[in-house]
Amino acid sequence: MLRLYNALTRSKKLFKPIKNKHVSMYSCGPTVYDHAHIGNLRAYIFADTLQRVLREVEGYSVDWVMNITDVDDKMIGRIQRDNPNEDPNSALGILADTYTDIFIDDIEKVGIKRADIAKLPRATDHIKGMQLLITKLMREKIAYESDGSFYFSLDAYKKSGKKYGVLVDLDYTPQARVTDDQDQKEGVADFVLWKAQKMSEPYWDFEYLDQNYPGRPGWHIECSVMSTQYLGAPFDIHTGGIDLKFPHHENEIAQCGGHQANFFVHNEHLQVHSEKMSKSIGNITKLSDIKDPLAFRLLCLQAHYRTQMDYSPKALDSAHERINNLRAYADQLFLATEHQLPTADESGITAEFWQIFSASLEDDVNTPAALAALAAIEGKVFSQQTLQLLYKVDKVLGLQLIDERPISSEARATLADYETAREAKEYIKSDKLREELKTNYQLQVSDTQYGPLVSRIRK
Ligand SMILES: [Zn+2]
Repeated sequence: MLRLYNALTRSKKLFKPIKNKHVSMYSCGPTVYDHAHIGNLRAYIFADTLQRVLREVEGYSVDWVMNITDVDDKMIGRIQRDNPNEDPNSALGILADTYTDIFIDDIEKVGIKRADIAKLPRATDHIKGMQLLITKLMREKIAYESDGSFYFSLDAYKKSGKKYGVLVDLDYTPQARVTDDQDQKEGVADFVLWKAQKMSEPYWDFEYLDQNYPGRPGWHIECSVMSTQYLGAPFDIHTGGIDLKFPHHENEIAQCGGHQANFFVHNEHLQVHSEKMSKSIGNITKLSDIKDPLAFRLLCLQAHYRTQMDYSPKALDSAHERINNLRAYADQLFLATEHQLPTADESGITAEFWQIFSASLEDDVNTPAALAALAAIEGKVFSQQTLQLLYKVDKVLGLQLIDERPISSEARATLADYETAREAKEYIKSDKLREELKTNYQLQVSDTQYGPLVSRIRK
């Protein structure tokens, strides 16, 4: 059974889905105004690993929804800079299309399967739903209108008996007040639900009490609406980077009336020289700068999601070396001939490995411990059973260790000649064939008690 750290209770809790055997999970997705950087990708790799653990270790089916933020200050800033003469609504759509495609491409490169995400809804396709929620909050007198914009009133919310500050302890001294949006707010900590149209900005009509309030949604309202529209309220798990905990998630919860999801799970930042990787600091690395994206995935999994992770090209190089070693071991198992390896691992190490591996993941998705468990079998245990478990490992960790391309029949024949020469103790001949396998077929031979096992040579 999976135990997961829940930011709502600030403790590890046994995870049980609302519906039997079925998990509903929402992840705050990207703002599609530019390339995601690898710091952003850490959050999606974590969410993906969590949903894989839920499916492959716990045996649940998972409905995973991730939103696309396609309207906000950054998006608008970008179209005003690049397409000042175009219709803002259509320029926004084109920008969103471009970077949504790039985002999907990026996440697939780091081992996230697009098909595993049930829905990738866009904010601008859900304006109506957001307006309905704002209308509901107005009716409940938890929201107010001012100068054409609509705001969430924290005072009214708290007076209705609800608690604001469920994920973080909030300090309401004047210095600590939230400076989220400076428009026409009554209370300092109120946040915007709907922003009145400004000149040359994209806008949507909003009919409220027979009056039109053209404008655009605030950021927080989109996640409250899209998460509950597709997953119901409450749903099981809400994920996001630690910086979204407050005010974003706190506000999402408040807009949902206090109970949006049963679990809130946050991953820590990726750091560079002890600083958060961010566009504003200017220390970003894009995925296109990385030659082996799955080595980056491994690097992420080597750190627990709730610890800050230091990124450096050197750390990435060691992850690349590590994943190549694992790939070589997977090759040895996969490329062995049908009769070469025993069916079962009689030593019991394989079965024991799986126990430690899955128990580690069930302990708050402890991927570093799960990866460490691999050391017990890697390069040591060879059986069909081990290969089958390695397929499971791939499903859970998404590292794509097993390369299912067959080797050519010529390479197979050379390998058979190599084995014959070795058995006949014709070492000069076998050394020559070993070299041939290396130079002609990029295969490395290792002599084991099961005969020669091969792996692909990777750089
Ligand atoms: Zn969100």
